[in-house]
Amino acid sequence: MQEGITTRVEIGFDFARNPVQVLLNPMTGQLSYERYTLPFRAPLRTAHGPWVSREGFWLGWKTESGVVRSEAAPIPGFGGMSMAEIQAGLERLGSEPTESDLQLAMQQGGELAFALGSLNSDWRDWVQEGPDYVPVAGLLPAGRAAFERVDSLLELGFRTFKWKVGVGDPRDEQGMLDELLGAMPDGARVRLDANGGWDRRTAERWLSVCADRPNIEFIEQPCAADAVDLLLGLARDYPVTLALDEAVLGQADFVRWRDLGWPGVYVIKPALWGNPCDLITTMRETKADVVISSALETRVGARVTLAVAFALGGGEARAAGVGVWPLFVDATYDGPHALPFLKREAVLALADNLAEGSR
Ligand code: MG
Repeated sequence: MQEGITTRVEIGFDFARNPVQVLLNPMTGQLSYERYTLPFRAPLRTAHGPWVSREGFWLGWKTESGVVRSEAAPIPGFGGMSMAEIQAGLERLGSEPTESDLQLAMQQGGELAFALGSLNSDWRDWVQEGPDYVPVAGLLPAGRAAFERVDSLLELGFRTFKWKVGVGDPRDEQGMLDELLGAMPDGARVRLDANGGWDRRTAERWLSVCADRPNIEFIEQPCAADAVDLLLGLARDYPVTLALDEAVLGQADFVRWRDLGWPGVYVIKPALWGNPCDLITTMRETKADVVISSALETRVGARVTLAVAFALGGGEARAAGVGVWPLFVDATYDGPHALPFLKREAVLALADNLAEGSR
């Protein structure tokens, strides 16, 4: 951007505490958006039935130096914004939003705030200043299908796996868990994701089983997001690490659980959280035990999610939950394909392609 034309606007959640610098040009910048629908290669199984295509919005911020793109894409049934809410927010902003309009929209958090915060160009620096690579967890489908997948992932070099549970009968799944652990080398770690599907009794049985199995890294969202006392009680009563996912969509949720003394992991999907700059600041300040996770973005949103993983990576950082691509029928829109280690160059290359105009 040229000196004299660019106005450096400071936009943030809590401006005094978390100043966030966003390079926008309110004098000549124009905000645009388009709605997209992209079919998945295979329908995803969710608690609400099959999910066949990804819907979201791509935002464009046009200035004299070019167009920056970003993405606002909710996960249906996960508890964040709806497509209609995002569209309404975009319509309110219009094509030439004022600084205070943008600030207000970012303060709301959620998918639209993620997209607006992503229009900032700092994310390249997050990757450059981060570690050389970020470890990635391999995704295992629910049920016996996990066995078909695990060998190929082990061969690729994955050592951290996430397995969907809470789909079949718990006793069957517990039997499969032992088979699965038996197929893995020493040092491999397995995360179980119940997506909030267990009641107290089922969760207690699972936690008893996992207490004797040190290869279990953690159990993600064992019970419903609003079962606060139950989740805190389970975390206190069993030696197994628990993680919150559906329960921490944004800053307000995170602060609530932190103030309650949550002793476990936070699975954070930047694309649902809000302004990514603010997310990084919050997590660095609080030193929370975090897993950065994809929200099944297209590559437009993926670059920022991955950049957040780099910003919060290094050292003892847990494997990121970003092994989701290839995901779409049209591979043009995929993020980098699942590898056990995501290299810095792979993310920066993705960025360069985007800068050249392709999505
Ligand atoms: Mg999860």
